[in-house]
Amino acid sequence: MYALSQSPEPQPMIPVLDAYRAPDGATLLVWCPHCRRYHQHRAPVSSAPRIAHCPTDGPSPYVRTGYKLRDAGPAPADVIARAAQQRPQPEGRQY
Ligand SMILES: [Zn+2]
Repeated sequence: MYALSQSPEPQPMIPVLDAYRAPDGATLLVWCPHCRRYHQHRAPVSSAPRIAHCPTDGPSPYVRTGYKLRDAGPAPADVIARAAQQRPQPEGRQY
């Protein structure tokens, strides 16, 4: 937990992204508007910020801030299909 009263620094704005629950129950599919792809995170959704899966040499600001996840419910069929069509992430970072 943050010690708000003792921190003179403002908290950085941490974005919140929708996380769809994949049918396997262990994977969350998170659309990244900067990478224009789904990042996969381990379920369940929690309040803790996640480390962004964006390439560190790319334009995504999430590399610096990370992001929080919001449960968006079971993944719709089109989300599952689009995520399955993606090639593995170049740097191979998962979770
Ligand atoms: Zn990304």
